Amino acid sequence: MPATLAIGPFNDAETAALKDTFDPQMLANPAALDGLSAAEREAVTALAYKGHHGLGAAQMDLLPNLGLIANFGVGYDAIDVAAANERGIKVTNTPDVLNDDVADIAVGMLLMQQRQMIQASDWARSGQWKAKGEYPLNRKVSGRTVGILGLGRIGRDIADRLAAFKMDIHYFARSEKDTPGWTYHADPVSLAQASDYLVVALVGGPETENFASAEVIEALGPEGVLVNISRGSTVDEAALLDALENGTLGGAALDVFLNEPNIDPRFYDLPSVVVQPHQGSGTKETRAAMAKLQRDNIAAHHSGEALLTPVN
Ligand code: NAP
Repeated sequence: MPATLAIGPFNDAETAALKDTFDPQMLANPAALDGLSAAEREAVTALAYKGHHGLGAAQMDLLPNLGLIANFGVGYDAIDVAAANERGIKVTNTPDVLNDDVADIAVGMLLMQQRQMIQASDWARSGQWKAKGEYPLNRKVSGRTVGILGLGRIGRDIADRLAAFKMDIHYFARSEKDTPGWTYHADPVSLAQASDYLVVALVGGPETENFASAEVIEALGPEGVLVNISRGSTVDEAALLDALENGTLGGAALDVFLNEPNIDPRFYDLPSVVVQPHQGSGTKETRAAMAKLQRDNIAAHHSGEALLTPVN
């Protein structure tokens, strides 16, 4: 009988669905693997994984019959895929079903930053509207130029939305895409120079670490706004904080950070920054779709069918 193990902070609905389908043992994080007996570990053939704790060779070696790691999320930078390959372990993720939500939050954060919607709400609620009059003018969003750093599945959905805002779309990817009317840049600095807004939608992981470098941030300039919905690792966070503090970058709208949830408190002192708690895909509808895709991959693995969304 194939056994599934689940590791991660699954919510009640996700836990109930996993239990109904596979009746897995549930662990809070990979460190808890040490608490399983050898027989329990040897029985595991599929792992439902959720979270940002690293899952590498050491953990995989504790599960000698593991054939599948089904990740909850499209970003699988927490999983050492090279180590999985060496052990013949397949990895799946949950692409596409979350594109809409992540694109929505990118656009929403940009609007919040430029139209100062949080501060303007406080202005109305605190009585300043009545006492002082109209809120100070802010910045127009429609019709500007946006640079998408990483025109993948999510980046493309962000660009489509911003095209409806009459924006001029520029982008970076490793190769030019078939996107008539949009401008390709092979160099991220050139992209930032051409853009009012830079939206980072790259994959995470070592290959894209600090891809939005100090040079890219400087090229975006004192009126520019950096939006990041990818991973904290893709942006040079120290350079970003310095640029925001000294005014060489106009603002930022961030859903992701280094060291989540212990984000750098310097961000809280910056009124030019919109902060969100990594909730890009955090709707009931999308999380349910992600959970279903994760379970469908596990079911396919157990029955020897083709995986729906393989990574390796
Ligand atoms: P995707 O379709 O794979 O697109 C990723 C983009 O990154 C592509 O443009 C790709 O370039 C680029 N890229 C990949 N490797 C690169 C490298 N070594 N150097 C430079 N560029 C590279 O991924 P997606 O589905 O759009 O997801 C993107 C990321 O969003 C995920 O990996 C995840 O980290 C993040 N995410 C965040 C949230 C949230 O809650 N905030 C939710 C979901 C996902 P090419 O086009 O040249 O391949």
